[in-house]
Amino acid sequence: MEVRQKMFAKIYYSVVSFLFGLVVGSFDNVAIYRIPEGKSLWAPRSFCPSCGATIAWYDNIPLLSFFILRRRCRRCGAPISWRYPAVELVSGLLFVAVFAQVGFQWTAELLPYLFMVTVLIIVSAIDLRLQIIPNKVMYPAIPTALAAMGTVALVRGDHKIIIDSLIGAAAVSVPWGLAALLYPKGFGMGDAKLAAFTGAILGWRAEVVGFFIGVALGALVGTVMIIAGKKGRRSRMPFGPFLAAGAVIAVFWGQAIWDLYTGLL
Ligand SMILES: [Zn+2]
Repeated sequence: MEVRQKMFAKIYYSVVSFLFGLVVGSFDNVAIYRIPEGKSLWAPRSFCPSCGATIAWYDNIPLLSFFILRRRCRRCGAPISWRYPAVELVSGLLFVAVFAQVGFQWTAELLPYLFMVTVLIIVSAIDLRLQIIPNKVMYPAIPTALAAMGTVALVRGDHKIIIDSLIGAAAVSVPWGLAALLYPKGFGMGDAKLAAFTGAILGWRAEVVGFFIGVALGALVGTVMIIAGKKGRRSRMPFGPFLAAGAVIAVFWGQAIWDLYTGLL
């Protein structure tokens, strides 16, 4: 009986955190579209980018409206980008994964992790679209991440957490930032800021693990694209999404990969 109750609770919490992630994902879409244009996130209400019609609440339900409307604006019929449901779905799934990672409990790490995946989704989508990692996101995000981990350190009564967070913020970002100063064509300063952000939340071990996973993913995808003839050897590829993917993987398996690797030494 107790086993069944626990399983029911897990399914219930998964559904609730998925719905929560969908709603946040819908906000992510607004941020992805408006931040690079310098527009306000809070007003006006969502509108069709083609005809400017305000979108009614019943046409703005995360994931569902996209399919109910058959990918078209109700008023002008302009196609709606796949990016919207994709962002909402990724946000929903990552929220479930983060909640599951902390055992569906209100632990101190929950909010920093949810904050991290949200910022990473927004920044990755903007980087994919426009090849920029906006300072407008990174400048407030980095100190917020440090403050969040400072709060975790206070709640847990463990000052090592904030020291780990500070070292994590510098571990990849400082060498990357120096490389960006020396070879601005090969290394982006935006990527260094992104690494400072993820490092602040992950701590230095998971940050280093996540960074190498990101580099490996980037190299893999880059090679595949060159072989497939989609990209020239010299064409630029945004690196932010790979750093972001590495950081998200590190949330779940960073410590395990670190232990495995140091165990081999
Ligand atoms: Zn329209």
